[in-house]
Amino acid sequence: PTEARNVTVTGAGGQIGYALLFRIASGQLLGADVPIKLRLLEIPQGLNAAEGAALELHDGAFPLLQSVEVTDDATRAFDGVNVGLLVGSRPRGPGMERADLLEANGRIFGPQGRAINAGAADDVRVLVVGNPANTNALITAAHAPDVPAERFTAMTRLDHNRAVAQLAAHLAVPVTSIAGLTIWGNHSASQYPDVFHATVDGRPVIDLVGESWLAETFIPRVANRGSEIIRVRGASSVGSAASATLDHVFDWVNGTGSGWTSAAVASDGSYGVPAGLVSSFPVRSVGGAWRIVEGLEMGAFSRARVDASVAELVEEREAVRALGLI
Ligand code: NDP
Repeated sequence: PTEARNVTVTGAGGQIGYALLFRIASGQLLGADVPIKLRLLEIPQGLNAAEGAALELHDGAFPLLQSVEVTDDATRAFDGVNVGLLVGSRPRGPGMERADLLEANGRIFGPQGRAINAGAADDVRVLVVGNPANTNALITAAHAPDVPAERFTAMTRLDHNRAVAQLAAHLAVPVTSIAGLTIWGNHSASQYPDVFHATVDGRPVIDLVGESWLAETFIPRVANRGSEIIRVRGASSVGSAASATLDHVFDWVNGTGSGWTSAAVASDGSYGVPAGLVSSFPVRSVGGAWRIVEGLEMGAFSRARVDASVAELVEEREAVRALGLI
């Protein structure tokens, strides 16, 4: 039988946590044959919600779910962790400056990085979902010097999935017809969804759509989809964020097959993105590790947009450096 994997979810009492946990228990994170031991980390005021979710997980009688433990102790939560899903973060409150937000998150992700460094399994993989996700991942990695930086990633898969879905709808094809799409940069409104290497049933997408549609409709629609969901639903996206979380980890562990996807990973300097920044790239998962897809040509249209998003990541890194968080 396959050995059970320890999966830690932070902010497990929150909305995304609730949408995520049952799907993890059903085998959609790692595979239908991989037993799971869940650890739910919360801050004290979130513990009741997490305990409630744990009771419902119990009631699901999931064959793969071997145990569920709820704690507010990061050291306990990350002991032996194989997959860490860092969902809980400090949302920007009214009147909160960006530096305050980064500092509040530094106080969350720094200690979690130290706990991962101290206790995680050798194969630990970490996905940061909580915003500002890229910089939170950078902070976490900085506090875990014994864990390879490539194990700390941030989620742009929801942006990727949104872009695929928008493009498929525009071209009136199934999502499975689309390949070669990339989200570059920060998981923020500055992100750049790039279709210049994308194909629809093997045909270049760029032959079918104009630059003005890209600039005026597609790119802002994808980048602002989160706000659109809030406007329509009255609350931020939850189910789709949980779904993308599963997609990211499933592909990381099981491979991407022939195509590629998007994930924010530590830059090795590829495409002029300063080394060490956690930035979104076109990536393949091979042998359980993300590899940046190299050698794609980038025209002026793309270059300017990638540079703008990367500049925002550089600023965030400088801000957390100035605060002593990395
Ligand atoms: P959600 O579960 O809805 O969201 C959690 C985080 O995911 C937020 O930071 C949110 O950022 C982020 N996120 C990233 N991408 C998306 C997306 N596409 N759509 C929506 N959210 C996205 O928040 P809740 O407030 O319901 O729950 C958060 C929980 O985390 C609470 O229970 C809280 O107690 C807990 N928490 C736990 C901590 C810990 O374990 N140490 C630390 C801090 C909080 P954004 O706000 O920008 O949308």
